[in-house]
Amino acid sequence: VKQMSGLCWINGNITATQDARIPVLDHGLLYGDGIFEGMRFYGLQTFRIDRHLKRMRDSAQAIQLSITYDDAQIQDAIYQLLRKHQNASAEKMGQTGYIRLIATRGVGPLGLNPAQCKNPTLIIIADQLELASSAQRANGFSLCISSIRRPQGSGLDARVKSLNYLHSVLARIEANHNQTDEALLLNQHGQIAECSAENVFIVRDNNLITPPTTDGALAGITRELVLEMGQKLGLNCKEQTLYPYDLYSADECILTGSGAKLIPVRDIAGRRLKYSPGPVYKALHEEMENMIRLQYR
Ligand code: PMP
Repeated sequence: VKQMSGLCWINGNITATQDARIPVLDHGLLYGDGIFEGMRFYGLQTFRIDRHLKRMRDSAQAIQLSITYDDAQIQDAIYQLLRKHQNASAEKMGQTGYIRLIATRGVGPLGLNPAQCKNPTLIIIADQLELASSAQRANGFSLCISSIRRPQGSGLDARVKSLNYLHSVLARIEANHNQTDEALLLNQHGQIAECSAENVFIVRDNNLITPPTTDGALAGITRELVLEMGQKLGLNCKEQTLYPYDLYSADECILTGSGAKLIPVRDIAGRRLKYSPGPVYKALHEEMENMIRLQYR
């Protein structure tokens, strides 16, 4: 399979990703003043695009960022980008990948006051993103518990998918240092928030449990889907505060995200879980792949 280079759309102009440029005075770069979304595409279709656009609008509203394009215009821009991507691709129908949607406050003076940022920048990148090898998916991830705490509520609400990802980046550096596949972030109270770019679920008996967003978790689109699928599988699905102990003693632990899809967890801070991958992971994974096959291929 020919490896595609990514394509990028910036305020209406499409270029190869490696040629795409934004001005150095864009406040997204200077101050992380912006928001983003990440989603998978299959052919010309974008997975749960309506939910991603809704979450982006909610994030924009929360940071008082006005996006000058409406949903139909953004969907059309994504479609144009995917058409170009597919035309350039050797293997037309099987083309899948990942879309990053970024909205920044735009260009302004060097100071941080956004009052003079008149035109927000909208960026759409279509490229490949693989967060786990097939061996990692088969064996499960090992997790460390990061010393970085996930900010929650006070200041920037964890539900805003902002360009401020330093806590996640620092947690990933710790994971690299610890030679684990990912890092878990706790909140200020020592409760489970999420991983650097995934939500966290545990399975205990017939329960499928994930922390509430108020504990510092992003309102993940995959998280929402997994709660729906779990319900269909007859599991008792709930949002509940979790502590490291709950993960250590769980039957299974599962990570979810648009990039990750579903990834089983093998061990947490050196403690081996009962199952990896477990029966619930397998059932959810199969359900999700079926859904993609039926609705997006
Ligand atoms: N938490 C964080 C911090 C993330 O960056 C992501 C990836 N967007 C997720 C959770 C998972 O969210 P989603 O399923 O919407 O991709």
